[in-house]
This record gives sequence, C-alpha cells and structure tokens, in this order.
Amino acid sequence: RGSRSKTPRFPRWVRINNLRANYDLLMNKGVFSEFTPVDNLEDLYPNGGDLPNKVYVDPYVSDLLAFAPAAPLMKHPLKKTGAIVFQDRASCVPAQLLDPPRDAYVVDATAAPGNKTTHLASLLGPDSRGKIFAFERDYRRAFTLKETVEAAGAQDLVEIRPAQDFLRSAPWNPDEENGLNKVTHILLDPSCTGSGIVERDEYKFVPPGEPRERGSKGLDGSFYKGLNTLPSAVEYDDSRVWRQRGTVEDRTFSLADFQVRMIEHAMRFPSATRITYSTCSIHAQENERVVMAALNTSVARRRGWVTEPRHLNKMRDWFRRGILEECEGNEQVADSCIRFNPWVDGGIGFFVAVFIRNEQERARLP
Ligand code: SAM
Repeated sequence: RGSRSKTPRFPRWVRINNLRANYDLLMNKGVFSEFTPVDNLEDLYPNGGDLPNKVYVDPYVSDLLAFAPAAPLMKHPLKKTGAIVFQDRASCVPAQLLDPPRDAYVVDATAAPGNKTTHLASLLGPDSRGKIFAFERDYRRAFTLKETVEAAGAQDLVEIRPAQDFLRSAPWNPDEENGLNKVTHILLDPSCTGSGIVERDEYKFVPPGEPRERGSKGLDGSFYKGLNTLPSAVEYDDSRVWRQRGTVEDRTFSLADFQVRMIEHAMRFPSATRITYSTCSIHAQENERVVMAALNTSVARRRGWVTEPRHLNKMRDWFRRGILEECEGNEQVADSCIRFNPWVDGGIGFFVAVFIRNEQERARLP
C-alpha cells in the first residue's frame, strides 16, 4: 500500500448527457439544485471528510460536475437513465477540445468502451444532423461500445464500425459512399501504456517495472494493461520528475510508433480540419514526442497541420502544459499541449494535444 495510509481524495466526476438531460434542467430546476455550489474542489472533502451535499461546477469542461466521493450517486436514477455519466475529468477534455459544430461529421478512431464517443454525441446534441463514425478494432470491445452508446441514447448519431482498423479506412476513395470523406473532426485516443491511470477505490502502488494486474479498470472506465513505471505518489507534482526517474520500456517505443501513424492517417482525411490526440500516459515518449514526430511528417507539412495554444478554448487557462524540453524547446507546441498529473489534478494522469488545419478553422479561433 506504499506510504499512504488513506485512500486519496478524488472527487466523483459527473458529466451531464445532453441527449437525456441538460445543465439547466439538473442544476437549476432538478435534483442538483439542492446541492450547495463550492468554489474549490478541496471544499468537497475538507480535512479528509466528505460533504455529500456540495457540488463543484468545472470551469474547464462544459457540463461537468464534481461531487464528494461519498455522494450517493452510484445508484441514482439519473445514472440508470443515462442522464449522467461518470467520467474522469481529464478524459472529458479531448471531446471538449475537439469541439465539433452541431452538424459535424466526426470520427472517433479508437472508440471502445465509448466514453468519448458518447461525450461527442452529447456535444452534437439531440437536434444534430451530424454523425460519429466510431471505429473499434477489437470485436469484443465493440460490444461494450454498443452498450455504452445505447445507454446514452446516442445510437442515432453513432455509426459503429466493429472490428475495423482505423488505419485501413480510406476516406479519399471516390467510391466511398460512407461519408468519411466529409469528416471534419477526428478524435484519436489510441492504446497507450496507461501509465497515468490511478484507481479510486484502492490505492495501489506498483513498483517500477512490475506488471499491473491484467484488465484493471481505470477511472475513465477503460481497461488497461500496462507497466507502472512511476516512482512514487509524492513525486507527481513535478512533471519533470517522472521523465528523469521513470523507466522507459521497449513497449513504449513501439506504441509511440503506432500513435504517430494514427495521427498521420487522420491528417490525410480530405475534409479534416481538427484532430485531438490523447493518452492516459504520463510518458513524454507517448505524448510530446509523438506530437513533435507527427508535426514533422510530410503529410503534416504538405497539408498545413499545426498546433496553436489559442485553440484550446476553455482549457486556455489550464496551468499544466506540455514539457518544453520534450518539444525540442518549441514553446508554441508545448503550450498547445494539456497535461493532467495523477491525483493532484483531480484524477488520472492524461495528455491532450489539438492539431488544426485550414483557414476556416483558424477563423473560428479567438
Ligand atoms: N476512447 C475510449 C474511451 O474513452 O472510452 C478509450 C479508447 S482505448 C484507450 C483504445 C481503443 O482503441 C481500444 O479499445 C483498442 O482496441 C482500440 N484500437 C487500437 N488500435 C486501433 C485501430 N488501429 N483501429 C481501431 N481501434 C483501435
């Protein structure tokens, strides 16, 4: 159990699903109007005790609320009807940053179990004429994806592509009547080491290099099999520490290669203007270095893909950005990357970068 005797205090993050409810309905007129809003996350559990009647409205992610861990929400009717979804804060950032307009054609390239797919559907909203193509290479995981999509009432917006490899999709094919050539927004959340995953109920510290339990469940609901290469909980505050002390596994390098290929492929989509790339890893090899490698590909240069801090919309005030040295000293790229450190930033360790393309997309920027 490491040096910590107490379970760390994570809030219970709750995302409102716009296909079944909305913020106004729940916060101003409905059940959550009885909760008292607090300004700081820590006010949900002062001095280690829970205050289950308080709510925190996240200033970074729309429709996201936090409650004390003991707030009685697990069996709440809103959960059963799909009006609210438990989803870690950081894992809500990719869809929020992808920010698809209401009628957009969107790809979720690596979709199961479907947390981000259903978040995208919620952002498109009930009146959308848009569409989400949800690729999932693993046939069994595609079943879970289907369940998640149905539970959220998103089946009319989501076209599941079970057992389909995103890397084999061919959106430029003129015979393709599937709409992929109209896709403007692409969410990439590919397999990674999962080194940023920490668990809510049980604080497990796995020594560096030791395998984690197979099939452990992360806070964002996805399963992972990874190696914990983190030194210890107390060192998470400084993002540089783990880079120096964390061991680098061969697997991290082969994953990074795959991650770059996924971004490259997304950059080839003919109508694409915006891509988010995310991992639940804290390793620069899977994060900043992947972003740098993707920006240096010929497809990125030829088609004008860039990263710019000003398209981070609500996350522009988020304090933790990419590690500058890992971006070869390029401040613009480092500032365009969002990092979440495990525990201290309210949940799992996470990384997100946004790539944008054409003038039209740039014109939308503030
Ligand atoms: N975005 C998901 C969510 O929020 O619920 C989690 C995605 S998980 C990190 C990565 C998923 O991508 C796995 O289910 C894996 O099977 C799938 N995957 C990996 N490579 C793929 C590929 N080339 N094409 C489609 N799916 C892929």
